[in-house]
Amino acid sequence: MRYEGNIFRPPSEAYSLIVQVTIGCTHNTCTFCSMFKDKEFRVRDVREVLEDLDMARTYYKHVEKIFLADGDALCLSNNKLMVILEHIRKMFPECKRVGAYGTPQDVLVKTPDELVQLRENGLGIIYIGAESGSQKVLDAVNKGVTREQIIEAVKKIQKAGIKASVTFISGLAGPDDMEEHALETASMISEMEPSYVGLLTLMVEPAAPIYKDIREGRFKVLTAEEVLGETALMLKNIHVTKKCVFRSNHASNYVSLKGDLPQDKEKMMNQLKRAMENTNLIKDERFRAL
Ligand code: SF4
Repeated sequence: MRYEGNIFRPPSEAYSLIVQVTIGCTHNTCTFCSMFKDKEFRVRDVREVLEDLDMARTYYKHVEKIFLADGDALCLSNNKLMVILEHIRKMFPECKRVGAYGTPQDVLVKTPDELVQLRENGLGIIYIGAESGSQKVLDAVNKGVTREQIIEAVKKIQKAGIKASVTFISGLAGPDDMEEHALETASMISEMEPSYVGLLTLMVEPAAPIYKDIREGRFKVLTAEEVLGETALMLKNIHVTKKCVFRSNHASNYVSLKGDLPQDKEKMMNQLKRAMENTNLIKDERFRAL
């Protein structure tokens, strides 16, 4: 397989075949993100992608899931995506699901019929990095998208029958706006009712622009206890009527939470409460990772 630079994928794509259809991310200016800072964005030639898929077929006997990398593969036109999805169906008939990262703008530019066409040809899940439900926080981290666009995009994905997995980041607002971050994120989740919510905890690498702000005292990182308090406030205020798989069990999280909303809300909140009362239950900084 041919890969360019570091490869990133959502935790749930750990066992997927990863194929790069783009290099980097079209936006690439979020202050907390260092993932693609070393890459200049470009769309790969579709012929190269098909060659990679052919190559993978010779290596792997059984491929259940395929993830289209890098940052926002969904920025490709439907014509290009369809060529790739049709080739996957031909070469990997056993593949049960294709996934990709997408920005809300990628989604909103597609018509409902185009999304349905992608779903009918194997695209089963789109991962959206929302990060926060607060417009103030989205602006502060240079997310380049509005709260309304995120909500509209997630609803549009789900209306097309594609699963939406939406990621948020604890601690992204620092101590001053943590309450707003928690409450606005909870209200966004309640309004969108995504199939999956992933909650990571802020960890910053030197290549991320916010790193300098932290070093120079302009941004304060939350303590573990503050993160747990913020998460508890968020969870308490999420009100969904249909099943939402909630995961906060990433290597960056201080406490590993896993449950389905709404029924497991109390269980997860009790887990947070226990960790706040007994700090031995909080993951040591040395064991956190991105
Ligand atoms: S967080 Fe997502 S959209 Fe923002 S720069 Fe990183 S990959 Fe691009």
